[in-house]
Amino acid sequence: MKVGVLALQGDVREHIASLLACDVEAVAVRRAIEIEKIDALVLPGGESTTIAQLAEVFGIYQLIKDRIAGGMPVYGSCAGMILLAQEILDAKVGQKSFGGLDITVRRNAFGRQVDSFESDIDFSDGSNDPIRAVFIRAPWVEKVGDSIKILASVNSHPVAVRSETALATSFHPELTGDNRIHRYFIEQVARPALEKVK
Ligand code: GLN
Repeated sequence: MKVGVLALQGDVREHIASLLACDVEAVAVRRAIEIEKIDALVLPGGESTTIAQLAEVFGIYQLIKDRIAGGMPVYGSCAGMILLAQEILDAKVGQKSFGGLDITVRRNAFGRQVDSFESDIDFSDGSNDPIRAVFIRAPWVEKVGDSIKILASVNSHPVAVRSETALATSFHPELTGDNRIHRYFIEQVARPALEKVK
């Protein structure tokens, strides 16, 4: 499986390292020809409006949107979660997302209380070990559609959600050296989704 990490802005290298630890091929992608060749995509944290604007500048916005709509497995962390959301609250005027996940997110939701924090959270991956989650001006999920499963919450706000082909977390698992979220994406989301279309 070849997984691309969208390399327009944000913590690309850390995601590549986490993916390599999950025994898949992981490459930075920013050109259409590269994005056409990947089986799955990771949208890193960073700044969601900047990433969406750069995607338009690089001429890959519509391609990414179409591939996600076509069922390419995708994982978005933090800004990446915002980029997957069908609806964004507290968005910048004209802010675009790729869509693909039937969720409404609020940008910088925790930011009004505290900019950044870490917390041990329960993640429904079948293990009982809590995950250390790093939140940096993070969004939370305010509304989910019927097709969405909530995998983790903080103060009853969902911070990890999935559909059949997409995973999103408000936090940054690539910063902790714990690769369980990436492994979950590869083994529980991407692999079954890719098997299905074979
Ligand atoms: N607040 C950022 C945004 O709106 C996301 C922050 C992050 O990815 N760490 O895009």
